Amino acid sequence: MAAEIPLAEAARSSIESWRIVDGSLRVRLAGSDEERAVQCVCGRCHWVVETHVTGTRGILAVKCHGCGRRADLPLVIAPAVPR
Ligand SMILES: [Zn+2]
Repeated sequence: MAAEIPLAEAARSSIESWRIVDGSLRVRLAGSDEERAVQCVCGRCHWVVETHVTGTRGILAVKCHGCGRRADLPLVIAPAVPR
């Protein structure tokens, strides 16, 4: 079971990678090896997730399955590998 991270904290962090496990959103923050489940203010960790990437800036747009709360989480985009 992954530790939880409150939505407000996730929104202030830089997310390096993410995945969905059984409908719950797991994120790994920049500089951390630990995967954490993003928890809504309503207590649920189930989200509808969309990614929006523009150049080197990314947003993980999430919407809670339980209460419908929306948030934009900052996503770290790995720089392109130089050729
Ligand atoms: Zn909610």
